[in-house]
Amino acid sequence: SRFFTLTHYPIGLPERELFALQSQELPDLGEGEVRIRNRWLSVDPYMRGRMTGTRTYIAPFELGKPMEGGAIGVVIASNHPTIKEGDKVSHMGGWRDIAQVPGDSVTALPDSDVPEQAYLGVLGMPGMTAWTGLNHIAECKPSDNVLVSAASGAVGSLVVQLAKAKGCHVVGIAGAAHKLAWLESLGVEPVSYQDRSSQELSDAIKLASPDGIDVYFENVGGICLEAALNQLNDGARIAVCGMIDSYNAEAPTPGPSNLSQLVIRKAKMQGFIVADHWASYRYFLNEVAPQVAKGKIVYKETVKEGLESTPNAFLALFEGGNTGKMLVKLTD
Ligand code: NDP
Repeated sequence: SRFFTLTHYPIGLPERELFALQSQELPDLGEGEVRIRNRWLSVDPYMRGRMTGTRTYIAPFELGKPMEGGAIGVVIASNHPTIKEGDKVSHMGGWRDIAQVPGDSVTALPDSDVPEQAYLGVLGMPGMTAWTGLNHIAECKPSDNVLVSAASGAVGSLVVQLAKAKGCHVVGIAGAAHKLAWLESLGVEPVSYQDRSSQELSDAIKLASPDGIDVYFENVGGICLEAALNQLNDGARIAVCGMIDSYNAEAPTPGPSNLSQLVIRKAKMQGFIVADHWASYRYFLNEVAPQVAKGKIVYKETVKEGLESTPNAFLALFEGGNTGKMLVKLTD
């Protein structure tokens, strides 16, 4: 098995040298264990938080030990009573080619017309995050004006479509021109944050949503949050999903200067972690999977090839190198 380890806990934007590719001979299968040949690996912004050496809501990666992450693969050997060779599964033994994990920790993929890697994106953790944050944290209603940051990413691109499907007016913040064009094709008012001050971004949001913002789905923080706060309507709800703008900060970042807008607008701001809501995953799948299968909900992927490309795929998340879900494809 070949796998990545962390060589140290980085400060600031990690360098490629942080990640060491190692190999080991796997031991015989233990009781209840399965061996999986991975076909798809997920890289996600939250993984940066596991590289800090301090526990957040999840333990840090251990230096020198195989890293972990979402993955999809095929079972090639099983010592588990119900999981068979040939089964397609999703599991957390990513950042490696062959994983050996307890069978009870893997999830069999449902029989579906949707490509298997969608279960790392639109039908997996990022999709569930979008659905949970919009419906259960922001309590989005059809009449809401919705603003989403990192709107063309894995989470954001489902948030905007779910909000559109409810009948909301939706504004999406993103970087590159092709991302803005994709958002526009989804019926979203696209707004670029690049080369803009928070005041300029705030003005652009106002132009795109003259009736203000009732729901802000926050993925970025920084100037996006400051700009959004200025445009809130009374009783607005902010679902704080992530703040990628600060994940590589070397020092504490300044807070928004206008948090008092929460008072003035009687707005609510609430963070959440998708894992806490996993009991509802089947309701999410029941609702969203058929729409993905029918093409009513669309998704994009940015795919890097080969295990060696995993660190660069991860690092590219912080430079907008992905449209939709960032994935690594492994070949046998
Ligand atoms: P994305 O697919 O959205 O990829 C990250 C994107 O963020 C980039 O493509 C880039 O798009 C944008 N971005 C990166 N750096 C900046 C920056 N400094 N300023 C503005 N935009 C930036 O990732 P995910 O969909 O997987 O995750 C989105 C957010 O959701 C993250 O904050 C993540 O941590 C969070 N999250 C939270 C979960 C939870 O349980 N709370 C679960 C899953 C994700 P662009 O080119 O537009 O800048």
